[in-house]
Amino acid sequence: DEEDVNPSVSPHGSALGLWGNKQWGDTASYVPKKKLQSWYQSSDGNWELAKILSTSGTESLISFSEGKVLKVNSDSLVAANPEILDGVDDLMQLSYLNEPSVLYNLQYRYDRDMIYSKAGPVLVAINPFKKIPLYGSDYIQAYKSKSTDSPHVYAITDTAIREMIRDEVNQSIVISGESGAGKTETAKIAMQYLAALGGGSGIEYEILKTNPILEAFGNAKTSRNNNSSRFGKLIEIHFSETGKISGAQIQTFLLEKSRVVQCTEGERSYHSFYQLCAGAPPHLREKLNLLNVHEYKYLQQSTCYTINGVDDAEQFRIVVEALDAVHVSKENQENAFAMLAAVLWLGNVTFSIIDNENHVEPVIDEALLNVAELIGCKADDLKLALSTRKMKVNNDIIVQKQTLAQAIDTRDALAKSIYSCLFDWLVEQINKSLAVGKRRTGRSISILDIYGFESFDVNSFEQFCINYANERLQQHFNRHLFKLEQEEYIQDGIDWAKVEFEDNQDCLNLFEKKPLGLMTLLDEESTFPNGTDITFAAKLKQHLKSNSCFRGERGKAFTVHHYAGEVMYDTSGFLEKNRDLMHLDSIQLLSSCTCELPQAFASNMLSLSEKPVPGPLHKSGGADSQKLSVITKFKGQLFQLMQRLESTTPHFIRCIKPNNSQSPGIYHQGLVLQQLRCCGVLEVVRISRSGFPTRMSHQKFARRYGFLLLEHVASQDPLSVSVAILHQFDILPEMYQIGYTKLFFRTGQIGKLEDTRNRTL
Ligand code: ADP
Ligand code: MG
Repeated sequence: DEEDVNPSVSPHGSALGLWGNKQWGDTASYVPKKKLQSWYQSSDGNWELAKILSTSGTESLISFSEGKVLKVNSDSLVAANPEILDGVDDLMQLSYLNEPSVLYNLQYRYDRDMIYSKAGPVLVAINPFKKIPLYGSDYIQAYKSKSTDSPHVYAITDTAIREMIRDEVNQSIVISGESGAGKTETAKIAMQYLAALGGGSGIEYEILKTNPILEAFGNAKTSRNNNSSRFGKLIEIHFSETGKISGAQIQTFLLEKSRVVQCTEGERSYHSFYQLCAGAPPHLREKLNLLNVHEYKYLQQSTCYTINGVDDAEQFRIVVEALDAVHVSKENQENAFAMLAAVLWLGNVTFSIIDNENHVEPVIDEALLNVAELIGCKADDLKLALSTRKMKVNNDIIVQKQTLAQAIDTRDALAKSIYSCLFDWLVEQINKSLAVGKRRTGRSISILDIYGFESFDVNSFEQFCINYANERLQQHFNRHLFKLEQEEYIQDGIDWAKVEFEDNQDCLNLFEKKPLGLMTLLDEESTFPNGTDITFAAKLKQHLKSNSCFRGERGKAFTVHHYAGEVMYDTSGFLEKNRDLMHLDSIQLLSSCTCELPQAFASNMLSLSEKPVPGPLHKSGGADSQKLSVITKFKGQLFQLMQRLESTTPHFIRCIKPNNSQSPGIYHQGLVLQQLRCCGVLEVVRISRSGFPTRMSHQKFARRYGFLLLEHVASQDPLSVSVAILHQFDILPEMYQIGYTKLFFRTGQIGKLEDTRNRTL
């Protein structure tokens, strides 16, 4: 029974028991019958629809639409759904819930610009990579008045609003998917609907304006998405008793700092830099001593400076307008832009060797002078901070000179900190502007736009954090779906114990367990002065080798069994990225600046410290600031996020990227399948398959199949007729349950009845 495992497109999955409930697999009892349609997997891994011409023994003769005829092993055929089910709104309506059927149904809809489908309670959105006419006031009106019920972001958002009002419970819309799958666009579409329905106070306009700001400072062109968000975002939109928007709060997660100082060919750094250089008006250019983008070293690392179809200068004006809308003063806007310019100029700071021990000092040139002026410090202080490091040795303070590599690290760390502090500061300004007044009612709808599960050729600390977050979200997702299912069964008096359910708790334990889990071991090694990526990897192997979700690999690598598949992580840079150290010298420099923002950044950094260095700041000569490790901080944020989500009624949207070229009209089955797996859509299907996903009322069942009865049934009530049908077709007792109002079936059972019905009609 291998029908669901598609080796050419399934790097993970089967090993994890995604299809663990094979005994209820919808093709286990599938016997190819003449004239029926069936799925055949060709050598390229794609599934093709074929008609069964004849079956003899273990072999079947099949024909394809283009006329080709093939003799194949019957076991390799997978049941296709009757044509009448082509393009159903909800995958759960399919009689056969196998992979090719799911893929085909989504593709059938996608080809007709129906990019939204349901998988039970989950909305699946396939990125069209082109404008499709499904949005705007007419559509909003239609969903509001419920004159249409085809799957849509508007529909799910409408449900959220209704349930918030009806149940007086906060709601959440959880959007996930790969980079470029359409999460951020989907979040904006949901926000549009909320703004249209809950608007009136004017605050909805401000809320919509947060998007261009966050995208300018937190998005960049990557190889996978020209407008890729490099942070996670939760926006909580509050409503008054009358259903009007009263305010909002934004929380962001894990901004990718490294992009500020290093950038891969073909990608760009954050949009904000290019927008500033292209769009700053003359007085600002002069004030910030702006150059053209290709004159800044940080931006020169990639020869990509522009994005097709995007006018950075125009975007700059849009961002300024948005900053005005959320009440960031002109003065503060200039302060923020000065920080961007300071970061760019920092990248141009160069060093020269000053002694025969290869110690360096920054060259006092235009770049250094500009940075000093932009952040408001003396050039000498900046020079000192970039070329020396104060160390505490036996209560003495020693000033250590730096080598070129150390000095560059210090410079880049400063640039990264300024940028990420600027980002946090902007979010804080937005939140002040959107803050809910005293009339807070506590009713809200939160929208979560967060990176999905990632598995690349080389996976590093970033993927480690992201995939951990996805394990947490997946658990939330599973538990919720499970609960929904359970409620329906209990309501109809079904024996719930017969439904199996798999959890990802083991993998979460691998990450979180104390004292011997991935995170604790990482933090422990990060605090050891002599800890390295190699000692870290060795510790993991030593302590976690018996964990079933863990496997040590050669060298510095290890593998984790995630719910979505196996991922091999390379520990290179793990400790460094987790420590994310900023030298105290640099923090002191910022706090001594005359400009407002660097000062604010410095005090923020110090307040984040777990153990502030004792003594007055200016005199103390401590080592590095002892702040929380990145993973510990992230875990804290995530726990808070989960707590918040747990107290809401969740709605799930899974975004799917149909091709890797950002092109319209191309649907790669293998790529889609892998994502359906990673974002849990197949998990929904699996959970359903492990239960009794097909439901039909006694009446409907009796009406639909009653005429197939060969013997007269004494009592004509729907239940008696139904039971007689079940007996006649030899449907095994474990394949169905009879509820108070409905019959519940394992997958595939109705398919058999439908086939007979179709052949009889
Ligand atoms: P993600 O946030 O998942 O990385 P985005 O939301 O940024 O992906 O989407 C990537 C690109 O795909 C967008 O810039 C846009 O061109 C296109 N796109 C996404 N969703 C839609 C949609 N509903 N309609 C049209 N284009 C879309
Ligand atoms: Mg995004």
